[in-house]
Amino acid sequence: MNETTIAAISTAQGAGGIGIIRISGNKAIEIADKVFVSFSGSKLSDLEGYRAAYGNIVFENETLDECVALVFRAPKSFTGENVVELCCHGGNLVTKLVLRAVLSSGAEPAQAGEFTRRAFLNGKMNLSEAESIMNLISAQSKSALKAANEVRQGAVSKKIYALCEKLELTAAHLSAWADFPEEDIPEVNDENLRFTLTESYKELYELIKNYDAGKAITQGVPTAILGKPNVGKSTLMNLLSGFDKSIVTDIPGTTRDVVEETVVLGDIILRLSDTAGIRETDNVVEKIGVDRAKEKIEQSQLLLVVFDSSIPLDDEDKMIIDEIKDTSAIAVINKSDLESKIDIEYINSKFEHIVFISAKQGSGKEELVSAVSKVTGTENFSASAVLLAGERQRNAAEEALSSINSAIEAMDMGFSLDAVTIDLENALTKLYELIGKNVSEEIVDKVFHNFCVGK
Ligand code: GDP
Repeated sequence: MNETTIAAISTAQGAGGIGIIRISGNKAIEIADKVFVSFSGSKLSDLEGYRAAYGNIVFENETLDECVALVFRAPKSFTGENVVELCCHGGNLVTKLVLRAVLSSGAEPAQAGEFTRRAFLNGKMNLSEAESIMNLISAQSKSALKAANEVRQGAVSKKIYALCEKLELTAAHLSAWADFPEEDIPEVNDENLRFTLTESYKELYELIKNYDAGKAITQGVPTAILGKPNVGKSTLMNLLSGFDKSIVTDIPGTTRDVVEETVVLGDIILRLSDTAGIRETDNVVEKIGVDRAKEKIEQSQLLLVVFDSSIPLDDEDKMIIDEIKDTSAIAVINKSDLESKIDIEYINSKFEHIVFISAKQGSGKEELVSAVSKVTGTENFSASAVLLAGERQRNAAEEALSSINSAIEAMDMGFSLDAVTIDLENALTKLYELIGKNVSEEIVDKVFHNFCVGK
């Protein structure tokens, strides 16, 4: 139990019908009694939990506001501590004056997310449920709200717990078999072990993919349009964004800087940037553009690499292809309204996804949409599936996935089962971290750092 009693305004700042000042800690009720005078004459400390009293907030002989005080007694409260919520009139001044009175009577100002942090530390919720509260508060779409609510109700934890249980059983069996050879423990069956590992791998993989797809839908995919000058990048950008933002001319190198635009393509938001090509250049202004283009490639999750189908591929096209490396990319073969002179075999050998368009005539947009949803995984996004509650959870899932993959590889290479056990244990550590079991203070700090004061 935390020693200090904290207080903060828990409702949004601004004019409103009701403003709530929340107090939590051992002395919450005692402190509230110093500022709250009930009309019935009874003290809040005389009330049981889940009771309300009606009265005035009085501080230094001055009545600040009328108030309904709600009393929650530990452990039956949001934080698991004694809590009093003073429900006053809304508005910036009233709530601030009441909070000041409460702080002067012995409470300390709550830090961002401290109420939820205490709820977590007192076992009222696990870390992923706490994170979902943050998502709930900031949800802007119905599907985001639904996902956050599901996490809050423990959908992610349930799924991860089930996975942990399966892996724990396997790890325990492996250790018992290795550590107690004299006992009559049945040998671990290779086939069963492989089955458990691959099934767990698939489950985690789906969870991560669905999270990424959900993120692409709600937050957008950073995307760069690449290609040498004059292939039609700006025309494509204009086609996608629906109005002239890039300057379209016939002189190579006109797109000297990075032009940014957010466009909705099918179900996905693309955060598009149209860049200068990546060719060698002596022109200073253009060189800055080229450097920024390289930087953009690194920051992008999707590349639309544009080629002019009416001319043969040249070294500059090939140089761009070589820059792409691991980023997901779609080859966009533009000017398909003209006679084709491009070496399509070469492009085929370098790209998994190829789309033919005429940016000028506006044809091929649907094919592009469908390729983008394939590459970003949004094609298979399931809004009703369990969704991870943020990047922290995704990172933990990704690390667990990589450990499970190592375990499978260790089996493939015929390593001893000890190696598999170590990988399994690493995966379990990460999965526990995902749901907030055995997490370090540092991770807890990171999670609650993103919260607002009063929550
Ligand atoms: P960027 O330098 O890659 O941005 O290329 P632009 O978008 O400025 O286009 C270069 C030239 O190609 C312009 O004259 C465009 O009108 C032309 N262009 C772009 N797309 C097409 C297309 O699909 N078909 C044809 N025929 N011309 C195109």
